[in-house]
Amino acid sequence: MSNKVIPYGRQEITQQDIDGVVEVLQSDFLTQGPKVPEFEKALMNQTGATHALAVNSATSALHIACLALGLGEGDWLWTSPITFVASANCGLYCRAKVDFVDIDPNTYNMCPVKLEQKLVEAKAKGTLPKVVVPVHLCGQPCDMKAIGKLAKEYGFKVIEDASHAIGGQYHGQPIGNCEYSDITVFSFHPVKIVTTAEGGAALTNQPELAERMALFRSHGVTRDPALMEGESHGGWYYQQVELGYNYRMTELQAALGVTQMQRLERFVSARHKLAKRYNELLKDLPVTVPYQLENTYSGLHLYVIRLQLDNIALSHREVFESLRENGIGVNLHYIPVHTQPYYQRMGFKQGDFPESERYYQEAISLPMFHGMSLEQQDSVVKVLSDILAR
Ligand SMILES: *Cc1c(COP(=O)(O)O)cnc(C)c1O
Repeated sequence: MSNKVIPYGRQEITQQDIDGVVEVLQSDFLTQGPKVPEFEKALMNQTGATHALAVNSATSALHIACLALGLGEGDWLWTSPITFVASANCGLYCRAKVDFVDIDPNTYNMCPVKLEQKLVEAKAKGTLPKVVVPVHLCGQPCDMKAIGKLAKEYGFKVIEDASHAIGGQYHGQPIGNCEYSDITVFSFHPVKIVTTAEGGAALTNQPELAERMALFRSHGVTRDPALMEGESHGGWYYQQVELGYNYRMTELQAALGVTQMQRLERFVSARHKLAKRYNELLKDLPVTVPYQLENTYSGLHLYVIRLQLDNIALSHREVFESLRENGIGVNLHYIPVHTQPYYQRMGFKQGDFPESERYYQEAISLPMFHGMSLEQQDSVVKVLSDILAR
């Protein structure tokens, strides 16, 4: 047996991907050419959203989404504590205040009941959020109908952080169609489902939001006379009408995205086969396997188990480290954001979001990626079983 570590996630790069990128290298445009729009078209076709903006990361996509929604000083952004820090940081970039809504103990996603309770309290205090960012953890969709209903009732905007969820479905409809949200964000980091090396996208059905995000993606600069003040000076003319950034995706990245998107369905179905097989192979072990919300099809970016520590001799940390020592590249998604030192300095405390903190004490992400072999999967299960039997 090879002693190579089995990673928790890994990209699949084929000759088709390589040819696509090389073709761009030999073309006239390395950036701002035709590939980015082609990739955006593929994202729109996949999701049904009417606008897609490819950018250099999901973090940038979250930032321009917040800016386009007008998030600013004095506003609140709420998200889940169990997410990558970027889902919360985007609020701070805009000088808004950030708060969290604890997770549902089964789905590990933002709990809509707790969201409603928190909204009732915030309304009384006059601190309702302007933006709420539900995160489809592991690719499992959040309860978007409930969140969308609350958004209407309490007047907040919704950005779906679907970094884990491209290729998934909610009530038979593709994640990213923005039916219950204003904007949906994807990540194309190599550990995610589809990769462009680094990259992200923001999707929406609202033309004004798409227009504003396009401005923030590229310096706040426009060549569209309709967006300018006064008359154009001539063919060379552009105007800066907002303070934007350079968050553009390159043509090389978009080319990779185009060929990757052609294999999306296969990627996700391969993950489903592996997940189903894990569920079966782990069923007699003292672990809780992922819960599948009714009427949803997960993108299955991650396969997270929770240790039933009462029935295990070792600690969570000992199990985790033994797995790593034995070549299983497990990970933990995520450390609750409110417990990070930066957030603690803002006043958050241990104990603020107990369900999230309990999850953190038990969760482990097992290796799962679309190119994973059954032999690799068997060896993960074997090592885990041996460790749990100690
Ligand atoms: C990966 C990830 C991000 C950030 O994505 P980048 O493309 O690396 O900026 C944001 N949110 C979640 C939930 C993620 O998993």
